[in-house]
Parts: sequence; structure tokens; C-alpha cells
Amino acid sequence: MDFESLDYKRSRWNRMLLNGFWFILVLTIILEFLYLTVSDISNTSFMTDYILRPSIIQLSVMFLAECGLKLLKGKYQDYILIFTSAILASVIVIIHNSINYLLLALFLPVMVSIFYFHTRKLLFAFGNTLSSLYVLYGINDPMREDLSLVSLTTITVMFTAFTLVAWGIILRGKELMNHLKSYFESNQQLLVKTIWMDKLAKTDALTELYNHMTFHEFFEKLIEQHERNQLPLQLALLDIDNFKHVNDTYGHRAGDRVLKQVADMIRSRASMNDFVARYGGEEFAVLFTDKSADDAYALVETIRQAIGSYLHEALDGKPVTVSIGFAPYFDGEGKERFFNRVDEALYKAKNSGKNKTIIASEPFDSKLVNWI
Ligand code: GH3
Ligand code: MG
Ligand code: MG
Repeated sequence: MDFESLDYKRSRWNRMLLNGFWFILVLTIILEFLYLTVSDISNTSFMTDYILRPSIIQLSVMFLAECGLKLLKGKYQDYILIFTSAILASVIVIIHNSINYLLLALFLPVMVSIFYFHTRKLLFAFGNTLSSLYVLYGINDPMREDLSLVSLTTITVMFTAFTLVAWGIILRGKELMNHLKSYFESNQQLLVKTIWMDKLAKTDALTELYNHMTFHEFFEKLIEQHERNQLPLQLALLDIDNFKHVNDTYGHRAGDRVLKQVADMIRSRASMNDFVARYGGEEFAVLFTDKSADDAYALVETIRQAIGSYLHEALDGKPVTVSIGFAPYFDGEGKERFFNRVDEALYKAKNSGKNKTIIASEPFDSKLVNWI
């Protein structure tokens, strides 16, 4: 893993790094001017050798880096910045070749590369640091006179040791990132699993309608809501006629396919705010929540007729019919009485020839608020 997920922040960091380079550049120019006041070199040659020439080189490099940042995308920007830091550091070192401790500035590319948490960029930066050191040592006579081979080796070893530390930081960062990643992934898997389990617990596997338990939960809530806000509420109980005979004649598998088809027909005709459940084996319940009683009844009849006219392949092209009990809820009636009333209407539908919808009689002691 190479932290690609953090890519979208990369440009912002690169901008900040380049701003940091500008800051270093301005700071070195200010320091040179201060140095000018105490130096015994003539003002003209100081201005040329210590301020103008290095500043022009550094400004040119910065200009190229700005262009690189604008024109190049992704990882190339990172390499450009590492390289820019190497040039800036080299210029600082070369104009002050007598100040040995400034050689530490050559380590700047490695420090910059740590920002990217990327081993290859660290190696590139280390290469830049060492190349700068040896090239400067090779081309700059005063530096070679000042620095013995032993010192050069010591500095090399020091840079290597620091780079190893930087590598350790990167590896540790990657380890943490991997840990976080797997933590988030397992959390996400858990979330998906919970949603899936929730769906499994609430729905019926064959028809994918809500199951008996969920029906009762919703039923209770909808009644509470009705009592509070007088929202419309009607219940229809549908039972497939002679389903035992269907199973006995065509087999259980054919019966299952019919159940699924009937469930689909109910669901597809119910609206978003209606609640359809498989109440029992071949029984379905529909709660209507956004219709007048007349509209709900009309829809129930449409569903019954649609079911009765559908010819099932699994039954050699024969249809099945449903009997239905239907009622609107009356204020203060309560869940049990409401349900029993509709169930009795279904029973009547069964006993009076089947394939029909019977509207339940109104409760005796109700305040008889009109159908909602
Ligand atoms: P009625 O018209 O009075 O409702 O008669 P019925 O035969 O439909 O009613 P009964 O209660 O006698 O039988 C219901 C049948 O439904 C019996 C049972 O095997 C069948 N059944 C229940 N659940 C399933 C199921 O998941 N798949 C299948 N294939 N059959 C089922
Ligand atoms: Mg039944
Ligand atoms: Mg039945």
C-alpha cells in the first residue's frame, strides 16, 4: 500500500512545501545582507558572488519548480520538489563553502521526502543528497581543501544513518495506515453484515415481503400514529383460496412459485406508503396509510381481480383466487379488536363463496368517526 488514498491532499502539501522553499530563499537573502554588513569582502563582489548570482540560480530553480507543479500531475510533482530542495541546498552550501556545518542543509531532500511516506521517494532523495555532496566536493576546490576524506566519509555515514531513521518513520507510518485501513474495512464489513442481518430478520425469504413479526411492529406503530395524528389507516388480510389443493395437485414447489407471484402482484400495486407483509403461509396483510378508505378498498379490489386473472405457468395456466377481509381503523379501537374485525371479515369471505372482499362491520361501541 502506498497511501494513494491520500493523493487528493498531495497537491495541497506540495504547495505548502514550495511555499516553505520560498521562505528559505527569502531568509537566505536576508541573512546574506546581514552578512554583508560584517564581511570584509568588497561590497561589489559580495553582492555579485553571495547575493545576485546565487539568488538568480535559486529563483530560476524555483520558477521551474512552480511550472513543474502547475504542469505535472501526481507523483512527478513530488520528485520535482525533492530535486528542487537538493538544488536550493547545494547553492546555499556552495556559496558558503567555508562553513562546514551548512553541509547539513544537503539533508533537506530526505526531510522533504518524509512527507510522502514513500520508500522510493526516500531513496531518490537520499540519492540527491549524496550526489549533491559528492558533486560539490568534486567541483569545489575550497571545499575539498577544507574537508578531509575522513570527514566526507563521516558525513556520508551520518546522512545514511539519518536516512535509515527516516525510513523507519515511513515504515511505521505505513504500518499504522494499514492498521487503520483494515480497521475501517472490518467496520464497513460489520455494517454491511448488520444491514443484511437486519433485512433477513425483517423479511420473508421466499416472497421478500415483511414477515409476521415486522408486520406486528409496524401495525402497533401505525395505530399509535393514527391515534396521535388522525392519519388514515386501513387493513386488508388476503388469503389464497384452496391453496392446499394447489400444493396437493401441482406440488409444493409450484405452490412456492405461486406464492411469490401473488406477493409480487400485491407489492407492485401497493404504493410507497403502504406496508405489505406475508402474514402466514398463504396469507398476506396490507396496511394502507395514505389513502381514503374508499381508495384503499378500490385498490384492494384491483389487487384481488389482478390475482384472479393471472394465469400461472406452474399451474398449467390456471389462476388462483384470494379472499379478503378489509376495514378502516376506528378511533380508540385498539390493535387486537381491529385485527380481529378484519379477520372475521376474511372468514366471512371464505364462508360465502371465496374470491371476494368483505368489508368488516363497524365496531359496536365506537365513537363512529367517519371513515378516514
Ligand atoms: P382456504 O381457501 O380455506 O384458505 O383453503 P386453503 O387450502 O388455502 O387453506 P389451508 O389453511 O387448509 O391450507 C393452507 C395451505 O398452504 C397448507 C400449506 O401446505 C400451504 N402453505 C403454507 N405455507 C406454504 C409455503 O410456504 N409454500 C407452499 N408451497 N405451501 C404453503
Ligand atoms: Mg390460510
Ligand atoms: Mg387459504
